[in-house]
Amino acid sequence: MNESRFVLTNEICTTQHYSNDKDRYRGNIVCLECEAKAWFIKGYDTDKMSRKACFAAHHKEGCEASTVGLEADDVLDGNGETTDSPSTDIYINLDNSKEHSLYVSEDNSKFDDEPSEWTKGSKCALGNSSGYPLKKSLRQLLTNLCRNPEYKDQDREIKIVAENGRIVLEGQLKEKVVHLTEINQSHTSNVWVFWGPINNLYKRKNGELWLNFGNSHEPSVVLDRGLDTAVINNFKIKDVGELDGSEILVIGPVGFRGNQAIIKPAFTKYMTFRRHRVKE
Ligand SMILES: [Zn+2]
Repeated sequence: MNESRFVLTNEICTTQHYSNDKDRYRGNIVCLECEAKAWFIKGYDTDKMSRKACFAAHHKEGCEASTVGLEADDVLDGNGETTDSPSTDIYINLDNSKEHSLYVSEDNSKFDDEPSEWTKGSKCALGNSSGYPLKKSLRQLLTNLCRNPEYKDQDREIKIVAENGRIVLEGQLKEKVVHLTEINQSHTSNVWVFWGPINNLYKRKNGELWLNFGNSHEPSVVLDRGLDTAVINNFKIKDVGELDGSEILVIGPVGFRGNQAIIKPAFTKYMTFRRHRVKE
């Protein structure tokens, strides 16, 4: 799209307007047709092509305003994992993800030699007689949440552990997973799995990286100075700007600054992303 709507005044926001005053428009622009939240994509040149700046959005079904095709980074590699039977429970060890690319929560070979409870087969703290707990990464959980709207409401247990089996979170998936749009004050106690799209991303002068669902009244994931470098390294991206328009999953407590929900993960292993690339 070359134009979006600035929701605070209903003005049309062109790519030129946006470039001239990013702080005004960031997080407050939507698709003219379907009203889905939009984000800005810089123009760029490669050897083969020259792309003009534009806006992208996760358009609602039937909307034809889109001028760029987006493709989730799990479409090509077939790691959708949408075939879990509804009763399968989930076990995630944050320190034991060995997969590549964005599937990795954090490379950490330190724990590779340490068998988890499941491989020892000594305990079955989770699950029922029919469902065998599936070892998953945060990324696989995020993929399932994004690709299957019913996944979250299916009857399954989730257990997330970190170093040496310390339990980070445990319970019914449907009670532990909270979409960014559903966060409220009741979530300030306890630890939750938060997830949703990031439509607005920027770095503050103090070095904090803000990954925002929308405008300054809507939930944000805030990374302290330095953690953005860890994100670039661990998720193997070149620039944090590549995360604009991606879905995020982050484990943690949430706090409020005024009306705004703020989630501040201490380590990148508590979070993951599902990126959407612009199709060439
Ligand atoms: Zn649209």
